[in-house]
Amino acid sequence: MVDRADVAVVGAGPSGLAASCLVAEAGLAVTLLAGSAPVAGDDPRTVALMQPSIRLLAHLGLWPGELTAQSAPLWRLKLVDDTAGLVTSGPVVFDAREIGREPFGWNIPIGALTGALEQRARSLGVDILGEEAARLQTSGAAALLRTATGVSLSARVVLGADGRGSLVRAAARIAAVEWSYDQVAIASSFDHSAPHLDTSVEYHKDAGPLTTVPMPGQRSSLVWLERPERADTLASMSEEDFARSLQAALHGDLGVVSGIGTRKLFPMRGLTAVAFARNRVMLLGEAAHVLPPIGAQGLNLSLRDAATAAELIAGAAKFGDDPGGPDLLERFDRMRRRDVVPRQGVVDAVNRSLLAGSFLPHGARVLGLMLAANIGPLRRRIMHQGLGPVELPRVMRG
Ligand SMILES: Cc1cc2nc3c(=O)[nH]c(=O)nc-3n(C[C@H](O)[C@H](O)[C@H](O)COP(=O)(O)OP(=O)(O)OC[C@H]3O[C@@H](n4cnc5c(N)ncnc54)[C@H](O)[C@@H]3O)c2cc1C
Repeated sequence: MVDRADVAVVGAGPSGLAASCLVAEAGLAVTLLAGSAPVAGDDPRTVALMQPSIRLLAHLGLWPGELTAQSAPLWRLKLVDDTAGLVTSGPVVFDAREIGREPFGWNIPIGALTGALEQRARSLGVDILGEEAARLQTSGAAALLRTATGVSLSARVVLGADGRGSLVRAAARIAAVEWSYDQVAIASSFDHSAPHLDTSVEYHKDAGPLTTVPMPGQRSSLVWLERPERADTLASMSEEDFARSLQAALHGDLGVVSGIGTRKLFPMRGLTAVAFARNRVMLLGEAAHVLPPIGAQGLNLSLRDAATAAELIAGAAKFGDDPGGPDLLERFDRMRRRDVVPRQGVVDAVNRSLLAGSFLPHGARVLGLMLAANIGPLRRRIMHQGLGPVELPRVMRG
């Protein structure tokens, strides 16, 4: 027997769950193939979500609420040039009060976020199946998905939110450009004796950035990019030794470090799909683009993918148009490419300028930091651009 839905979503990470909620909220029948792994899992990551993403959560009735109590506001972002180069720059502080009255965003535990989105999806009537997509055929007026246990599902459009190794992307015959960096990120969290003052700090080091992001109380989350061998050493250290190494890497800026949380390693890769939509498929989140965790761009971009897809699909349904038709897919591709590709370029350039170890890219990065520190209008422009593009989906607008 073949089940039917207006929209099928593959992947129950934050991108797939957010898209499922938004499409169901518009009154369409949504089936989500969630895979067999638990949705929230044991993930030490937190995600810094900027105001447009917070507005999406508010639109879904999830903000303010239980999530807020587990999250911390981001009022200041500080960049510290911590390289051993001959020319270095002083720190640059971006303060949200320079451009408005609200924080840049909030730092939210990713497990709590996916848990809240899953609950909301269920309450909106999304049909969540603990099944893995195994095959996808995309010819004719519908797409046909088959799961590993033989369930068949037909839909007008499939939202591929199945992560970097996306089966949906491959089945829709969309190639991807992939690359890797000689780096691994250590994600964790820690207590500290000095207050974080609602400030996230990105230390630019020779092996990549080390970023601390405020959590409630005197605790911060950590994303520490290191060369693979050093990352392995840090990950297998005793808690005490790791705390000591971290405290030294932070130059004691947060006082005494203790209470190290779970440490998890993420090898650093990049990926861009050559098309973000084709053959009745729209790609969301890491199925479409992967970038290193610098400047908190990844999930913010993914939520904009989800909101854009939902807005286009709901618009098509309202006028009786095909939500998986070529015109709509082309529009989605154009809209998302404008946002994703330049941001991926900036993140890649910053990361490579640290790894290259040669004077020109290092000098350009240092010059950029100096200009941002000293020229107010440039600093404010960078802050506005960091929050998101001018053109936002309706549910993310202020
Ligand atoms: C250390 C670190 C820190 C980060 N910090 C930030 C930050 O501060 N701010 C920010 O914006 N971003 C951040 N990011 C990026 C962010 O975490 C990712 O962009 C986001 O988690 C991607 O979500 P996703 O839903 O696209 O993919 P995933 O979370 O990978 O979800 C994909 C889902 O699809 C499922 N799946 C796969 N194949 C199938 C199948 N065949 N059938 C069914 N299901 C399937 C998987 O099980 C998984 O549940 C960070 C990333 C890292 C590594």
